[in-house]
Amino acid sequence: QLPHRVVDVAKAKMLPASKPVQKEKELPPQPPPVVYEPPSFGRKDGAAYQVGKMLGKGGFAVCYEGYLATKNGNKRKYALKIVRSKMPTKMEQKFQTELQIHSKMNHQNIVQFLRAFSFESSTYLVLELCPNGSLMDMVKRRKGLTEPEVRFYSVQIAGAIKYMHGKGIIHRDLKMGNIFLDKDMNAKIGDFGLAALLVTGKDMQTIRRTTLCGTPNYIAPEILEKGKKGHDHMVDIWSLGIIMFAMLTSKPPFQSSTTDEIYRRAKNRDYEWPKSEASSKYISQEAKEVVATMLQEAELRPDPDTIVQHDFFVSGYVPTSAEITTRLRDYPPQGE
Ligand code: ADP
Repeated sequence: QLPHRVVDVAKAKMLPASKPVQKEKELPPQPPPVVYEPPSFGRKDGAAYQVGKMLGKGGFAVCYEGYLATKNGNKRKYALKIVRSKMPTKMEQKFQTELQIHSKMNHQNIVQFLRAFSFESSTYLVLELCPNGSLMDMVKRRKGLTEPEVRFYSVQIAGAIKYMHGKGIIHRDLKMGNIFLDKDMNAKIGDFGLAALLVTGKDMQTIRRTTLCGTPNYIAPEILEKGKKGHDHMVDIWSLGIIMFAMLTSKPPFQSSTTDEIYRRAKNRDYEWPKSEASSKYISQEAKEVVATMLQEAELRPDPDTIVQHDFFVSGYVPTSAEITTRLRDYPPQGE
């Protein structure tokens, strides 16, 4: 096992600090204007999805809006995540994991998986549509969120983590770019491509894929260390700590120009909060404290329930969903 990991870390160093590798040729061809879901049991005639605008491209998938005409003449909107039916073996593996795990998830803060089917030479995942981009886009646009907004999103993400861990699922790739915003600006965790079912012993393939394909900013140091076992699910808590820091300050704590440097700083917990005089935003002691608890050694990190009982959450205001919707959905206002 050991040589594998040594090689992986060495390779990972050559990756750019923030962008996952993307090979255009592995993306699926442009979909036709209408795609047909083959008839299946419980459904005599196959559904026809009208393909709308492109939502985004990932490492090996392209997402489009898809409209399904309902009986009463309305249209229901979905996200169609499209991948080539024939993929290189490694990607096929990633995709199979994603399908198996994502299809079993049912939680208000996880992108709802509806079904998957093949049409022509592509595979389509029908997913709940998140029309407001990712948390990363929003945090960049707003240059950080207010503490009440950070509470709102952190509680939602912690709830989704609790749900996944309760089902024995570790996400392993939680980051702002994988958290999408639904029509009401609720957070929905998506992209289960690196998720793993918690089993005893480590799945080397998954670790390899995490170090090679994941963005290094969010990777917990123990993933890169040898011989640590037994607290695997705590990598998601580490990522939540990074996400909270990034929501508060608009950049991840260990951001550096090389992957090597990011890993080194993460291992040493070498991060600084912006100086209050230099920053327009005040960051409370409670916020700093709760983040620090999540960036400890795996066995010391709090579980999701403990996190949301921290003073940061208990003694501060948490906005209602309606307040978040009106405050954030149309930001920045037209014309700004
Ligand atoms: P990959 O697994 O290849 O990384 P992603 O799941 O990240 O692909 O999807 C690629 C892009 O498609 C995302 O960055 C996002 O812009 C968009 N996207 C993915 N899922 C949804 C969704 N449910 N609703 C809206 N847009 C989505």
